[in-house]
Amino acid sequence: MNQTIEELVAFLSTPQKIIITMHRDPDADALGSSLGWASYLSKKGHTVTVISPTDYAANLCWLPGMSEVMVYEKAGESGKAKRKIEEATLICCLDFSALSRLKDLGKVVQNAKAPKLMIDHHLEPEHFAKWMIWDTGAAATAQLVYALIKEIEGDVPTTDIFDIPMAECLYAGIMTDTGSFRHGNVTPAVHLAVADLMLTGFDSSRVHRLIYDNSPLSRLQFLGYVLSQKLIVLPEYRTAYMVLTEAELIRFNSSAGETEGIVNYGLQVENVVMSALFIERKGEIKISFRSVGAFSVRDVSSTYFSGGGHKNASGGRTELSINDTVDLFLSILPKYKEELLKVD
Ligand code: 5GP
Ligand code: MN
Repeated sequence: MNQTIEELVAFLSTPQKIIITMHRDPDADALGSSLGWASYLSKKGHTVTVISPTDYAANLCWLPGMSEVMVYEKAGESGKAKRKIEEATLICCLDFSALSRLKDLGKVVQNAKAPKLMIDHHLEPEHFAKWMIWDTGAAATAQLVYALIKEIEGDVPTTDIFDIPMAECLYAGIMTDTGSFRHGNVTPAVHLAVADLMLTGFDSSRVHRLIYDNSPLSRLQFLGYVLSQKLIVLPEYRTAYMVLTEAELIRFNSSAGETEGIVNYGLQVENVVMSALFIERKGEIKISFRSVGAFSVRDVSSTYFSGGGHKNASGGRTELSINDTVDLFLSILPKYKEELLKVD
């Protein structure tokens, strides 16, 4: 056991008032890792509250424990959430490592007196936490939560530690952050963790179905529109991109979570090594980047789009107009041309 975990175990030996929070627009890893960790801590006798900075996608509502999650942005919840954060004795920050990723909740967490525990796998973390369980080699924060719990519990058999709901939450995070076990972040440790969690007897195929095969018809029709009308491929830069305006989102009645994953389709085009999705929503431009192999979209998003993330999956945002944002993107492509063409 390393020193961080030893200190944490000592701290958790008496009941604590714990807040767990995760990045804005939380995905299945952010929510799954948070709910799995919350369930473990509750069983150990702590009082746990999970707070999401913003609303989340409809296909994550089934995650066990979701009905208890507070949404900071929701009318009437922020005052209560603030009070809970001020009273907390520990704040766990999962699946993010920059307080700006919490949107308005960032300041509240920053000013809270409780010590913070970061559990995360993003590059270049800020140092706001007393304890950091941080490993960019982990495919998902849920994998780190699994490994942390196993380490704390030592020789206790898996099925005495994890129940089916906990395993479902952690599996959802690992499955989605690895693109259903097909991205470059898949390691033996990922499969070993999943194999171990499967000893609980949860139905992994059902988890996959609930997340990926659970779209309203309108989302698939919207996807059809985007792929047929909006996907632009620049073979000379091995790049694909899509631009969605607010008017289009309104026309298709597309809510925040429904654009999740669309960026990945750009990478299915032969020879493409970088895909970008530009979304205009509520006066802000949100950009998602994906890449394959050695090409780092994290570099693109952190250098030009106030963002960050991982080498092959990153995001950012601008306050420019949608047209100026896309122009900026197109103007930087020549700088990356050599690197893009080099990818295996
Ligand atoms: P997505 O495209 O799915 O929103 O995000 C892909 C990855 O980039 C995720 O790991 C996410 O945490 C990270 N990311 C997305 N948006 C931002 C951002 O605005 N800032 C930073 N630092 N990371 C981001
Ligand atoms: Mn993650």
